[in-house]
Amino acid sequence: MIALTASRLYTPLDCLEQPLLLVDGDAIVEVSSRTAREVPAGTQTTDYGDATLAPGFVDIHIHGGAGHDVMNADTAGLAAMERLLAAHGVASYFPTTVTAPVDQTLSALDRLASAIEQAEQARAEGHAQPLGIHLEGPFISHLRRGVHPPANLLRPTLEMFDRFWQAARGRLRMMTIAPELEGAKEVIAEAARRGVCVSLGHSNADLNATRAGVAAGASHCTHGFNAMRPLDHREPGIIGAMLTDSRLSADIIADGIHLDPIIVQLFVEAKGPDAAVLITDATAATGMPDGHYRLGSLEVEVKDGRCMSEGRLAGSVLTMDRAVRNVMQFAGWDLQQALRPASLNPARITGLAGRGKLEAGCKADIVVLTPAGEVRATMVRGAIC
Ligand SMILES: [Zn+2]
Ligand SMILES: [Zn+2]
Repeated sequence: MIALTASRLYTPLDCLEQPLLLVDGDAIVEVSSRTAREVPAGTQTTDYGDATLAPGFVDIHIHGGAGHDVMNADTAGLAAMERLLAAHGVASYFPTTVTAPVDQTLSALDRLASAIEQAEQARAEGHAQPLGIHLEGPFISHLRRGVHPPANLLRPTLEMFDRFWQAARGRLRMMTIAPELEGAKEVIAEAARRGVCVSLGHSNADLNATRAGVAAGASHCTHGFNAMRPLDHREPGIIGAMLTDSRLSADIIADGIHLDPIIVQLFVEAKGPDAAVLITDATAATGMPDGHYRLGSLEVEVKDGRCMSEGRLAGSVLTMDRAVRNVMQFAGWDLQQALRPASLNPARITGLAGRGKLEAGCKADIVVLTPAGEVRATMVRGAIC
């Protein structure tokens, strides 16, 4: 058994001063306070001084990092990305596909499912853990495709969805879909029935089409404001629904490039600390110098932190710890508030039991943060890195 102490702990719903957190194997066995309890004899204790203990971050939308793209990364490539993620406080993540020819998508899903299965079998120390796959495209709108290749976009069908599902061996946990497409409602309903978090995005949906998607089973929105029909005061569309419908959670890329800081503030105030989610949408270029990188079949040029392809934004080089600090800076949220969209909320909305919170019985996924919100250490399933 090991014990961690620090100045403060956020569960994140509750704040504990002088915490004492006991870990046995890969699980948290007790969360209490040093003032209330002695460290059990024979326990190895690490004291993080003035730092804060918080749940390891959960990134439900990430395409790559450390020079590797999840559409074609091999085991070593995924491992390099997972070490980068852990260095930025991320304990678990959903590798996210980008629209590609069907055979390439199927082989990526098969490979990513294998990575998830391997990680379940054996803990790789110092690595963030892949817990499910996010299918972004091909069921998205030509009008709001961003950089997803137009030739590979598909109309949603149950048959195609099932082929993806089978290739992923049921490891699809999230899917971005445009609800206005013909066939979308049936696919949304079936995906939700199979436990997939269905997220509306890359969409030109008006208010009615968005509401129909929610009625069919969609519960979330992907990178709010980006690749969506713009907000109009007479046709509020998908953004109007996203901001006001309490049945929808939603995520944003809070890098200060995809959204003006004012829009980040508007978003987190509208969705509130329960339903706002942070993602990185990070690409292979994350953690790397400026230059040229792959995003699926695309070449992306990265300059001054901006990822561009065909003159459009193509993912980010954002890390989750920076996203949290940006929300504090852009929206005036304190650390405890800003942690929730990076941990508890993504875990809850995607049905990840025992993740995203520090409670007895949960996985020992923990980030140690300085008072300024910088990552000092990350623990993934009980292994510190
Ligand atoms: Zn996207
Ligand atoms: Zn993406």
